[in-house]
Parts: sequence; structure tokens; C-alpha cells
Amino acid sequence: MYITSLTLQELEEKVKQIGWERYRAHQILNWIYKRFVLDFEQMTNLSKEQRAFLKDNYLIHSLELLKVVEAPDSKKFLFKTRDGHIIETVLIYERDHLTLCVSSQIGCAVGCTFCATAKDGLTRNLRVEEIIGQFLQVQSLTKDKIRNVVFMGMGEPLANYENVRKAVEIMVSSWGLDLSKRRVSISTSGLINQLNRMAQDPLMRELNLAVSINAPFQSLRESLMPLSKTNTLEELLEVLYSFPYPPDRRIMIEYVLIHGVNDEVEHAKELARLLKKGKKKFKVNLIPFNPDPELPYKRPPMEKVYRFQKVLWEEGISTFIRISKGIGLFGACGQLRSKRLVLR
Ligand code: SF4
Repeated sequence: MYITSLTLQELEEKVKQIGWERYRAHQILNWIYKRFVLDFEQMTNLSKEQRAFLKDNYLIHSLELLKVVEAPDSKKFLFKTRDGHIIETVLIYERDHLTLCVSSQIGCAVGCTFCATAKDGLTRNLRVEEIIGQFLQVQSLTKDKIRNVVFMGMGEPLANYENVRKAVEIMVSSWGLDLSKRRVSISTSGLINQLNRMAQDPLMRELNLAVSINAPFQSLRESLMPLSKTNTLEELLEVLYSFPYPPDRRIMIEYVLIHGVNDEVEHAKELARLLKKGKKKFKVNLIPFNPDPELPYKRPPMEKVYRFQKVLWEEGISTFIRISKGIGLFGACGQLRSKRLVLR
């Protein structure tokens, strides 16, 4: 069993069952989540027998670090799961903090046509200890504290709701990684049922929410994101207009700009119209497509990106351009890739 798949309460139950004092659970999690000690032997406030018991019965994490690829503004970590799959995690150096982009699934079933991860389909959901293990391993190798987490790596996080939720609980609890809820972001392709579930969930609805729209017209969105056939743009926007955020918070709309596909002025105008239709305010993140030799799309020239941004600005919508950190290493949701990159 993995310690990092348990909440404090669950670990307290376990230690009680084996006759230890309750506070031992707190001590163990303190080593892991506050000091990033990933070896029971080093937990020196436990007795020798207790350390031996933990070593015989528990593991801390399950990922093997295979490789680190460095770029000036980011670092990509490739991990192998115990059943032999490769997952990726990216550490991004922002101006004054570090952000960790974690994966939530091996592959993805959503099938966006601009996404490398979609090519392999879904293999399986990541387990709680595999999500938390990405953070722990990277943090234990990184001097500065990681304060932001984005679920924007491989996979659709809301399709792995239970495990992502428990990992989030560990991330934001004071006994866990103690991150602020406002510094954890869920990036989704727009699964309507799961967004409704998130809206009802006091833990999840306080996180930052980013939703990939990518096209302001239903037929275009269907061609880029096949899930849109059953999770239509109109229904998705209705869910977003009524998402229970306090008035000062804005949902982030992610829009991957693809040359000659969704980057014209008419697209920007229609997007602005849709976002202004409800009472809610939105922010827009424009992500120029990160070219990939296996995908049939191109990145638009920067003049087109700026023109798109200008139209949204003129409509009063705060719009940012997110140039992929570590180009070639990291792109938008799902432009992380695994097996092929390692094999190369
Ligand atoms: S872009 Fe995100 S949601 Fe779409 S297929 Fe890729 S990983 Fe899945």
C-alpha cells in the first residue's frame, strides 16, 4: 500500500489498527509532505521497529524517474509507472514562482485532433499516489518551493474525478502539501456532467478552473474536439455561466490558436459575443499551437495572434497570450507526450 494514497484520517485509522499512537500518522506525513523525505529509514522520530514495519508494509511513491529534459524556462520529468508506462510532468519557471504541470491519466480518451496525447487513446487513469508522486519527486529535486499546480499534463482530469479529487485534498490540506486552493488549477476539455459535479463539490469548486473552448462555432469545435458532439458548446457555456464562483473570480477560457483553422477575426468576435452573453466574467488564454511533426496543423504568425487578442480586448475581455514554456517540451493540455519522445 502507498502512504501517499491516504489522507491523514485514513492513515490515523491504519496506525490505530496496528496499536501505534495516533500522532504517528501525523509524524509520517510531516516527513513526506513538509520535508520531502521519501525514505522511511530517514524518519528519525520513529523507532527502528516502526521504520522497519513501514518499510515492510508500505511504499511512499510508485514512480521511477527516467529522465529530465531541460529548457531555459522549464524542465520536463519523465517517469515510469510500476506497470511500465511513461508519464510526464513539467516544472515551469515563472517570474517569481514555480508551477508544476501534472498528468492525470496515461493517454486520453477525449481525442482532440490537435493533441499528441490523443493519438494513443486512453490507457488508464493515474492513481492518487502517481499524481502526488509527481509533485513529491520533482519537489525533492528542486530547491525552491513549488507553489502552483496545474492539472494540464496528459489526460482529462475530470475524467479521473475521484483520484484527482483525493490528490487535490492532499495538496491543499494543512497536513499535506498545504497549497492554496487558488494555486491549484483544473484544466478541462469541458465534460459537462463532471463540471456539474465539480460545481456541487465544496473542495473542487474553489480551485481555479480552466476550460478549453478552442472554437466559437459548434461545427468547428466538433471537428477539433470530438467530445463536443455530446458536450455541446451551448450546453458547456450554460454550465460556465452558472458556475458558482464568487464575483471576483474568473474562469479561464483556453483557446489553442491554429493557423487557418480558428484564428480569424470572425472567430475572435464570436468568442467575445459568447463570453459576454452571460453575467459571468471570463479571462482568455490564447495558446499559439505548438507544432508537432505528427499533427497536420501550424502555429499562426504572431501578427494573427495579436490581432485575435486585440479583438477580445476591444470587447473588454482580459486576454493573455501564453507562449508555450520550453517550446518543443511543453505545449497546451495534452501536447505533453510520452512514449514516442522517450523512444526517440
Ligand atoms: S488536448 Fe487535453 S483533453 Fe484533448 S485529447 Fe489532449 S489531453 Fe485529452
